[in-house]
Amino acid sequence: MTERPDLPLRCPICRKPAAEAYRPFCSKRCADVDLNRWFSGAYVVPGRDEEDEDGEPKPGQSGRDERDA
Ligand SMILES: [Zn+2]
Repeated sequence: MTERPDLPLRCPICRKPAAEAYRPFCSKRCADVDLNRWFSGAYVVPGRDEEDEDGEPKPGQSGRDERDA
């Protein structure tokens, strides 16, 4: 049975009834607000993701400039 009850979703941002096109948000604006929260670091876990990617020296990529004239 895959009959889903038509529960009125509420926008987690402003608590207005969600719109079909922007579920679970009520509008694109609120969807953007939620997205911005991610980007602004509200949900970012303090870790060393960037350090791992940036601090790792890549062998054979630096100081290997052989110029064959
Ligand atoms: Zn909203």
